[in-house]
Amino acid sequence: MLVIGLGAAGSASLVALARRGVECIGIDRFSPPHEHGSSHGLSRLIRLCYYEHPDYVPLLRESYRLWNLLQATTTSPVLRITGGLYVGRPEDPFIEGSRQSAVHHGLAHEVLSSAEVAKRFPQFRLEPGEVGFHEPTTGVLFPEHAIEAHLREAERLGAAISLGERVLEWRSRAGGLTVITDRRQIEADAVIACTGPWMPSLVLGLAERLRVTRQVLAWFRPSDPDVLQAGRMPAWAVSEPDGSAHYGFPIFPSESPNSEPPGGAGFKLALHRPGEATDPDRVDRAVREDELASLARFLRDRIPAGLDSSGDTLRTRVCLYTNTVDQHFLVDRHPDDARVVVVSACSGHGFKLSPAVGAAAADLAVDGRTSLPIEFLGWR
Ligand SMILES: Cc1cc2nc3c(=O)[nH]c(=O)nc-3n(C[C@H](O)[C@H](O)[C@H](O)COP(=O)(O)OP(=O)(O)OC[C@H]3O[C@@H](n4cnc5c(N)ncnc54)[C@H](O)[C@@H]3O)c2cc1C
Repeated sequence: MLVIGLGAAGSASLVALARRGVECIGIDRFSPPHEHGSSHGLSRLIRLCYYEHPDYVPLLRESYRLWNLLQATTTSPVLRITGGLYVGRPEDPFIEGSRQSAVHHGLAHEVLSSAEVAKRFPQFRLEPGEVGFHEPTTGVLFPEHAIEAHLREAERLGAAISLGERVLEWRSRAGGLTVITDRRQIEADAVIACTGPWMPSLVLGLAERLRVTRQVLAWFRPSDPDVLQAGRMPAWAVSEPDGSAHYGFPIFPSESPNSEPPGGAGFKLALHRPGEATDPDRVDRAVREDELASLARFLRDRIPAGLDSSGDTLRTRVCLYTNTVDQHFLVDRHPDDARVVVVSACSGHGFKLSPAVGAAAADLAVDGRTSLPIEFLGWR
């Protein structure tokens, strides 16, 4: 079995194959974790009260289980539970949908009035009519550590890994596939394709289904770092009426002397909304003044402790979303050749689910089916 691309989805798929005892190799054109694709930026949200589709919750439960298993294999931080606070109008899908998901699946949660938010989370300024939704299971994943840990675990379980090798194409043949890379030809029973923002250029039929967009991340110098520390500050999102949401992370203490804090120094935030369309090989990685000014304005209005009077950023990054039309992932066998499993776990929310998605992809590659509920993520 061959896994192409070893970012979030591919590294998780490789571990899943290796756990099943399958002979497998993972190939990546770069050396993950890296900053060319969709899995960099030092932190990702994980939350359980998913409102986007009811079948995400069982996949999330499995993902939490697998993240905890992975955490046990490494001393680097992979997952830290911080609790999560989402702010918006009561009828906002983020608030009402999360509440309905929590009730439907019996998940711990609280809906907080504006006064309750002000008392428990004074870091936030709510607008008139807004409420808070608090979820204790929300946490922060550290994507570079997670990918590193997945790859080390896959190797430990017997998987082979080849870095700096680029897959150019594959051809179907009787009994398997011939995969052609820039170095060699590999014969495989099946392939799991997980090339993130390069899926449209590599996989037949995806250019017209997936749209790659440029997303900006920024870490501001906070005016009051103490109130933004994990323990006092939850992971958070503030939902806007147009369906977008600013979101961000608490500040974590360093876990060892002289090391950068998990998640990076400063107060990190971003805007969840597909940005401008781009090409992963030509994306503009420079963050513009107007993009930073917009994020700073949000902090000034809503989380003033996150921004000091200089308005300085300590770090900025550009990352890539790969968006489907319905904003769900794509996890399925390719309609032209069932031995090719296609995994595009993104639309800006795929990291948290990558362990369960990787397990499902391994099931599809080995058995042709999975007991995990992924029908809603199918090609159709
Ligand atoms: C700014 C931002 C914020 C996000 N926030 C969240 C969040 O809070 N929570 C969440 O759950 N998700 C979040 N996501 C989404 C999540 O990060 C992505 O869904 C996930 O990282 C996608 O991983 P991937 O494996 O599909 O792609 P990638 O990690 O990009 O991996 C693709 C890999 O394929 C390799 N590759 C490409 N072409 C070839 C080839 N021809 N041959 C060999 N190798 C190849 C690349 O080198 C790369 O390593 C966010 C995404 C972004 C960009």
